[in-house]
Amino acid sequence: MYIDPLATKSLTMSYHKLKVAVIGAGAGGLCAARQLLSRPQTFAPPVVYELSDCVGGTWVYTDRVGKDDNGLPIHSSMYRDLRTNLPKEVMPFPDFPFDTQLPSFIHHTDVKSYLEQYTDSFKIQPHIKFRTYVELLNPVFGTTGDAQNTWEVTCLNLNSHCRSRDRFDSVIICNGHYSDPFIPHIPEIEHFKGQKMHSHEYRFAEPFTGKNLVLLGAGPSGTDIALELCPVANQVVLIHNNLPISSQLPPNFLQVKGVNRFSETGVICDDGMEYPADVFMFCTGYNYSFPFLKDVDLKVKDYRVTPLYKHIVHTTFPTLFFIGLCQTVCPFPLFHNQVLFALASLDGTHKLPPKAEMDMLTEEEYQSSLHHGIPHRHFHKLDSLQWSYMDELAHLSKTEPIPPVTRDLYEANAKIRKQDLCNYKRFNYKIVSHDMWTTVEPKPL
Ligand code: FAD
Repeated sequence: MYIDPLATKSLTMSYHKLKVAVIGAGAGGLCAARQLLSRPQTFAPPVVYELSDCVGGTWVYTDRVGKDDNGLPIHSSMYRDLRTNLPKEVMPFPDFPFDTQLPSFIHHTDVKSYLEQYTDSFKIQPHIKFRTYVELLNPVFGTTGDAQNTWEVTCLNLNSHCRSRDRFDSVIICNGHYSDPFIPHIPEIEHFKGQKMHSHEYRFAEPFTGKNLVLLGAGPSGTDIALELCPVANQVVLIHNNLPISSQLPPNFLQVKGVNRFSETGVICDDGMEYPADVFMFCTGYNYSFPFLKDVDLKVKDYRVTPLYKHIVHTTFPTLFFIGLCQTVCPFPLFHNQVLFALASLDGTHKLPPKAEMDMLTEEEYQSSLHHGIPHRHFHKLDSLQWSYMDELAHLSKTEPIPPVTRDLYEANAKIRKQDLCNYKRFNYKIVSHDMWTTVEPKPL
């Protein structure tokens, strides 16, 4: 069934304020709640469902791995000594800067504090239902042929173990996408006698002292964890396909292309060599996972989520929004723009095209990205396209675009990181104006 997005507008104008649910109180969910609260004429105060007992999502570090006390998988992939790979000057929501006293590359606890301050400043906390796990999200259709469906959220209170159901006009899904480890098939894995793990379970380096480690995948976590392990490990082998990382690297850090199969004691790579491994770590990313969407037509095929318009709007149900699916981006500014676009389409500031047109435009964009050599599974990986994407969202929602200095410093940091992976976090930056940044004297770590 197709829902006419125009019906949303008449809904807002006619008889009541829109009731919006937000799933998750990580950065994405907090941003959605803050923006909803700032539009009290149009939106009723939101209900934010959060399964844990605090805000911050990814940024809530725990030593634990596996399952939590409720038998749910541990959500956060944060490790103890992580410092951000983006300078704090580009990371914040545009309406809430980080403390200027902090260095540019901050510890994860500083990001958590920042999100707590954001929550306090915009008085979001009273609207969050903590320890409340969303089990099911279903569209509900009226019997009188209403064009507009509502949404029923079924949730489990993890304290009382009681279930409850609430109705909403719209739902913004911000459940995070760094929790459900993706583990590729590698032949003969069953023969390997060493320890296998995913970077999701990595917490700190000490248990790996003196060991031979093989890591698969050179994304931000793979490279960062490999470098963190080098000072304690005997040898760290990073297997990846973008050889070589041209930066200067520690002497016990090797790079190898293509894992071929496991042996009992290590892995055999495309060069025919066997690399011994006490531990093999998959740094191979995460699956998109929406376990509560059982009755909504949503396909996740090889990292692409459909049917979505602008990576956000479900085209069959244009009151259902997904925040934060895009990868290789500047997350908080991107969430900000995505949320404003979602709210603009709900309050009628931006009229969404009909479903057929949204699907057609998305298909055109997908075909064009294939044509430009971007593989299917990287459709949500925006990289340098993120800036025009965010500008477009801002234009459509009639809001302020992200200042050019964010893009310039983000891109400069990417370049410096590539040149000097071991030392790029020594730099400190300062924003001078909306289109100018400067390097402050590098400080020793
Ligand atoms: P999350 O932070 O994952 O929040 C999702 C929330 O939803 C969680 O609180 C979870 O408990 C809740 N939830 C999930 N399912 C349910 C349910 N069914 N019911 C109720 N609640 C639910 N970004 C940067 O900007 N800079 C960095 O340096 C950086 N480093 C990173 C390092 C690592 C190791 C990782 C994993 C990510 C990093 N990121 C970084 C990206 C980071 O994930 C984003 O910045 C951002 O915090 C993601 O926010 P989110 O709201 O999308 O998801």
